Amino acid sequence: MLLSLVIPVYDEEAALPRLLDALREVLGGMACDHEILFVDDGSRDGTARLLAGAAAADPRVKVLSFSRNFGHQAAITAGLDFAAGDAVVVMDADLQDPPGLLPEMVALYEGGFDVVSARRVGRDGESRFKRGSASLFYFLMRRAVDERLRPQVGDFRLFSRAAVLALRGFREQHRFVRGLVAWLGLKEAIVPFRRPARVAGSTKYPAWKMARFAWTAISSFSALPLKLSLGAGLLLTTLGIGYSAYVLYETLVLKTTVRGWSSLACLQVLFSGATLTAVGLLGDYVARIYEEIKGRPLYLVAEARNLPPAAAPPPRGVRLAARPAAAAARLAGEPMELDLAAGPIR
Ligand code: UDP
Ligand code: MG
Repeated sequence: MLLSLVIPVYDEEAALPRLLDALREVLGGMACDHEILFVDDGSRDGTARLLAGAAAADPRVKVLSFSRNFGHQAAITAGLDFAAGDAVVVMDADLQDPPGLLPEMVALYEGGFDVVSARRVGRDGESRFKRGSASLFYFLMRRAVDERLRPQVGDFRLFSRAAVLALRGFREQHRFVRGLVAWLGLKEAIVPFRRPARVAGSTKYPAWKMARFAWTAISSFSALPLKLSLGAGLLLTTLGIGYSAYVLYETLVLKTTVRGWSSLACLQVLFSGATLTAVGLLGDYVARIYEEIKGRPLYLVAEARNLPPAAAPPPRGVRLAARPAAAAARLAGEPMELDLAAGPIR
């Protein structure tokens, strides 16, 4: 059997050499063949150079280079689109997903599981904020998205070929891969592990990216926030009707209406806030529909190494045709700006 590793990388030059060593050691001791498919998500540091070197030294190291940063979930998607293995494992480049777990995951796959997930039972070296926000994330997700979502299971997972083919069927723009896996409902095994700290470099998921990711996860699986805002709107309207009745009573019966400016001001502020929030929420969903309806590609592979020229991704994945003359020049990166004074280009 062929085992594919899909590894998204974004500015991981510090971690890559350690990762390659660790993978070599573990994979060397395993009976199956393997390929390591790196997806370079528009790195700006020396990552591309390191990957090119590794690919030149070993044809089993394959590289997809995006033209720019498309995000972690798009990188996972591209990796799953191009991986050729009978089983495919998605893992981080920073050794937080220990390669030592691979033999056990493959054994479970051979035992008939379509999805083998690694569950974090402890997290070393991660800030209290990260751990706390992660727990809150899984709690909310299981309620808002899908109760089949496994708590403390990240993207470190093995997929059988059947599961990969099923996952390739999802071509939506706003992707939450874990949610898609839960949606599939395939036979799943869970392997616990202690999540170590990053070997090098810093997290590529700052707080704002995590918040955006969480919102994508909720909104791409659930209209619950819209329903909540509708519920809140109905509740406020009911209370408003009651209050209006009281105001009428005050005006017509008690005739004491000059007072009450402050209550008016408070109500005005509260209701405008609630209205704007609901409209904004609606607007966010509409914007997502708009982005989805355009049907744009999910990523653009500018360059590929050690992959057959004919290997083409499913719909909404784009691989640029190879440019033989400029094979060495990376298409990605800063634009080259010519100097007008230097005369016409010859
Ligand atoms: N990553 C990526 N694109 C991004 C952000 C992250 O490909 O825009 C990669 C990153 O290089 C790493 C993996 O996704 O291999 C997980 O990111 P990270 O380890 O920073 O996240 P954390 O483990 O801190 O949640
Ligand atoms: Mg990490």
